Amino acid sequence: MGSESSMQPLGPGSRGPAVADVRAALRSLGLLAPADGIPDDDGAEVYDQATELAVRHFQQVRGLSVDGRVGEETYRALSEARWSLGDRLLHHDPERPMRGDDVTGLQERLLELGYDAGRADGTFGPETETGLRTFQRDYGLTADGTCGPATLRALRQLGRKVTGGRPQLLRQSASFVDSGPHLIGRRIVVDPGHGGDDPGCTSGETTEADLVLDLARRIEGQLAAAGATVYLTRGPDQDPTAAERTRFANDARADLFVSLHLDAHESEHARGVASYYYGTGSGTSSTVGERFADLVRREVTARTGMLDLGGHPKTWDLLRMSRMPAVRLDCGYLSHPVDRLLLLDARVRSSVASAVLAAVQRLFLPADADPPTGTFVLPSRV
Ligand SMILES: [Zn+2]
Repeated sequence: MGSESSMQPLGPGSRGPAVADVRAALRSLGLLAPADGIPDDDGAEVYDQATELAVRHFQQVRGLSVDGRVGEETYRALSEARWSLGDRLLHHDPERPMRGDDVTGLQERLLELGYDAGRADGTFGPETETGLRTFQRDYGLTADGTCGPATLRALRQLGRKVTGGRPQLLRQSASFVDSGPHLIGRRIVVDPGHGGDDPGCTSGETTEADLVLDLARRIEGQLAAAGATVYLTRGPDQDPTAAERTRFANDARADLFVSLHLDAHESEHARGVASYYYGTGSGTSSTVGERFADLVRREVTARTGMLDLGGHPKTWDLLRMSRMPAVRLDCGYLSHPVDRLLLLDARVRSSVASAVLAAVQRLFLPADADPPTGTFVLPSRV
């Protein structure tokens, strides 16, 4: 189907190439049987009763006015419906915007994954391009704003895995940025690992369980001072299961879940700070979780001088079962002499708490207002 403008409406009795076009489109949509209708004596296809019925059906499904005739609106809708995702390269053309069901499909997938692609209206506009470029950048693809085979592959892989599992979580990207720099009204669950009879890793009298609880309380204090509502998952004598900890965060309708641990290793050379977020390692991940995991680790290492061991996707229950972005921070090795000295210093633990606060603040700040790592100063409370 070629030109989109100034066509004569087609209806019962019409014949000719335009009718053949319409009938081909209806066939490709499965609305007209392949063998339906016989060309007339001249070999031209006729707008017969079956065609009219198929057009009415199509109009009804598409929310067009149902008259069984093909005017400009129906003709355009038929043209657009013929494209399904993967049929052609999609990109933003300001002169002649691309339209079609494939564009709608792309927009819906991007939105589902938390990328702002504008309304899913089937027109590839500048917002769709921006959303697509961001997606491509996040997934290590060439960020050219063109939806070709590599991008489609990534979208398909993700689309399937994410459906039913994490879309609402991924969708939070946009709302996080919208919520502004202050933390008033934000609910954050801080989860000190281990507890009760489970000390976690130990070094002499010092236990991971005690240290992360102390850290959690300092973080609670700083976040609360910035206006957030903070909940700890345990006191000194409890050791909830992973399921209990995530249920607690889900019930609290938390916006963010931060779990705290320390590490230990036989080798006394092992040291540093690692962070973990929900992800399968093959592309599917929580975009907000990954960003926060990155921010918090960078802030902590910048302020304490501990080694940066990077952020890693994991499918641990703790990360998987929480409905909000969830991050686990492993904040140094008790088995390493320098890490241990740092962790035993209350001032350093306060710095870690400031680092967590700064990371939370940065998660809420629009990107252009984002200060460099390690320099963020809490705005004075109103
Ligand atoms: Zn631990």
